[in-house]
Amino acid sequence: MSETGSDGAYERGWQYGDQILWTYTNPAHPGLVDQRPVTVIADDERHLAVWLESGTRMLHHVLADGRGIREADGPARFGAPRAQGVKDWQGPGIVAVFQPGVAYSVWFFLTRSGLRDSFYVNLEDPYTRFESGILTADHVLDIVVDAPGGYRLKDEDELNFAFDAGMFSAEQVARIRSAAETAIADISAWRFPFDSDYPHFRPNPDWPIPTLPADAAWDFETR
Ligand code: MG
Repeated sequence: MSETGSDGAYERGWQYGDQILWTYTNPAHPGLVDQRPVTVIADDERHLAVWLESGTRMLHHVLADGRGIREADGPARFGAPRAQGVKDWQGPGIVAVFQPGVAYSVWFFLTRSGLRDSFYVNLEDPYTRFESGILTADHVLDIVVDAPGGYRLKDEDELNFAFDAGMFSAEQVARIRSAAETAIADISAWRFPFDSDYPHFRPNPDWPIPTLPADAAWDFETR
């Protein structure tokens, strides 16, 4: 359900507590998805925030023989044939924030402080909406932020492997690096959502864990 605002820029979307699908497609592996059923925390002009509960059953990519994709080294990690896997999200619950037109999402992880003050900046396509959720595509490179304004790039070598595997063109790699610079500027300035209240977020204990669509299918069940 969505409606276009008068300026056409904002499609009014979901309400607190709605269950949607957070989905990554990958042009190098058409037909396969990373798909996470999540609960909506907020959806407004500025951002969409969702909650991924620990233990959520989700679709992910595996190698064609069912092993984890990290079992493949170098470019094969991105280019080797893959299959559809399903697993339960093993990590603690996270808040993920998406902003319209922004080429990264920010994931808030709980730390020993009791706050969700470890930030994982996932570079990806700006999200688009579909009836049941959002679609994006991962850009491999990530940024980890463990203190206000402090950061480190993660998986730069993997971005090179993805390029070698033909997953991205040189032009796309340049765009991804440029998006990382933008994200780093936002981190340095401690702009939204880094300065938001989400580190203090607590999920509604009455929320049921959302589930995959009834027609979801997979080749391998993994841990
Ligand atoms: Mg990533």
